[in-house]
Amino acid sequence: MDYRKEIVKYAKLMCEKGYSVATDGNLSVLMDDGNILITPSGFRKGEVTEDSLVVISKNGEKIEGKYEPSMEKWMHIFIYEVREDVKAIVHAHPPYATAFSLQMPREYEPVLPEIKMFIGKFGFVAFKEPGTLELANLVKEKAPNYNVLILQKHGIVTYGKSLFDAFNNLERLEFEIKIRALKNLFKFQH
Ligand SMILES: [Zn+2]
Repeated sequence: MDYRKEIVKYAKLMCEKGYSVATDGNLSVLMDDGNILITPSGFRKGEVTEDSLVVISKNGEKIEGKYEPSMEKWMHIFIYEVREDVKAIVHAHPPYATAFSLQMPREYEPVLPEIKMFIGKFGFVAFKEPGTLELANLVKEKAPNYNVLILQKHGIVTYGKSLFDAFNNLERLEFEIKIRALKNLFKFQH
């Protein structure tokens, strides 16, 4: 599997779907040699190219690449550390889920049956500044118990055994929260 092609494909899709604003968001894949291929810092996700991607070790050192790795690299590294089943991670700021993050309860039980089946409950991570070890540590604490996490006042992180799965989780999470928001449009009289 060509991981570089795959990351570029889903980075573009993230941008097209409006799940990332300006240079926000990042994607990574755990490669067969145990290193991590991750998007570079400071790029619009629609403009990420195969040769702009960065290879880092599980200790966070840059192994290869012209640019610096995403500032959320620790969040990615820690998830791979605590979830052996996870091979790909997506961090994004989709608008409905991000709005929901402002007032989310401790955890959230989805209403739509397919979301329940594929993802289960959504985990909640209390606010810490983006890009910090503090945020990455809270994500590390919650990741073993949930397949998706909503980061308070920030965005979301989803993961899976491939980028296909991780991105599906992102779309499903955002869809659930969007439907929950839209249901308020239909207040029928009984
Ligand atoms: Zn972010």
